Amino acid sequence: MSEIPCREAGTDFFSATIHDLNEHMTKKVTLIPGDGIGPEIVESVKAVFSVLQVPIEWEEENAGFVTWQERGELLPQSLLDSLERNRVALKGPITTPVGEGFRSVNIQLRQHFDLYANVRPCKSTRAIPTRFENVDLVIIRENTEGLYSGLEYCDERLGIVDSICRITDRGCNRIVRAGFDYARANGRKRVTLVHKANILKQAGAALLNAGRDVAPQYPEIAMDDRIIDNMCMQLVTRPEAYDVIVTTNLFGDILSDLAAGLVGGLGVAAGANIGDDVAVFEAVHGSAPDIAGKGLANPTALLKSGAMMLRHLGETEAASRLERALDQTMAVKAHCTADLGGKAGTREFTDYVIENLEKDAVETALSRS
Ligand code: NAD
Repeated sequence: MSEIPCREAGTDFFSATIHDLNEHMTKKVTLIPGDGIGPEIVESVKAVFSVLQVPIEWEEENAGFVTWQERGELLPQSLLDSLERNRVALKGPITTPVGEGFRSVNIQLRQHFDLYANVRPCKSTRAIPTRFENVDLVIIRENTEGLYSGLEYCDERLGIVDSICRITDRGCNRIVRAGFDYARANGRKRVTLVHKANILKQAGAALLNAGRDVAPQYPEIAMDDRIIDNMCMQLVTRPEAYDVIVTTNLFGDILSDLAAGLVGGLGVAAGANIGDDVAVFEAVHGSAPDIAGKGLANPTALLKSGAMMLRHLGETEAASRLERALDQTMAVKAHCTADLGGKAGTREFTDYVIENLEKDAVETALSRS
């Protein structure tokens, strides 16, 4: 597998992108409101970021139902051009019709920019009481292949559908390397590969072989593997035992919703889609049509994705301030949104986050004077 064209061993996938960005002083960021609750939570991000005072200029472009209705385009060229220029985006969720209609705009975007690593951290916080207190794991999901390749063939006459689960050696190699790079960059100790190699022998073997090839280049990090069904059971009984999980597209999608449930639910689960050139930050959750337009959505997941983006851009201090303000806000139950048992709407919650950011700024100024 060493002849597969991929990044070289030892080049750090995550910090390599940061250095490039700093070199070019690029802090213009493409902002994609999306569908459903997307515009509501994006408003929250804009309000909070204006108080954070980070050197970021939003370039707003949209995709999905709204642009389809307005311009007859689901994924407008102007959005692709904006992202090509800026190389970083913060994105709201986009609706995909179930069982019919157009192909997911989210998947098209990931495939267009080859955003092959979907990074989804799940960490318990004291602010949100849940069944487990010590969850601190990261799911690194392959984002461009597997059952999401879009290769489906249907013979209606025979009533047969073939959905192709395309797995490539190159795809496995680079996602496993991304997992190890993430582990190294973040001082993590173990990478667990998740597969179904007992049944999907070839596809599973491809991921495991990539692990065997890549792991020796990261001697300080242990590697093991789990079959997906066992992994689900392990995560709902002893999630604290897991660190970095690397897996294929569908398994990663399912495991990340499961893991979100362990630390407070979809309203707080952040994520990033990262490729070698472009990164798109977005919440794990979807467009939540059941609460869209009601002012009830929890903006935390997108705000936390914004914090991940700030770290990616080298704005680590601002990212920490934002995360602190979110934790302080969620620690008061009445200030939480309904998904966390509170009574606040999206705007009120946002106001509380801003209040905490302002308090934090005053305290920091006082401690320095
Ligand atoms: P969903 O994540 O939108 O919602 C699942 C449940 O979680 C709903 O009850 C919803 O109200 C709740 N929820 C989600 N986010 C919340 C938030 N921020 N605050 C409070 N409650 C929240 O999943 P779904 O209903 O299965 O999917 C709806 C649509 O979203 C579908 O069209 C799907 O394809 C799309 N989707 C998009 C993305 C994306 O854009 N990346 C991801 C997942 C799903």
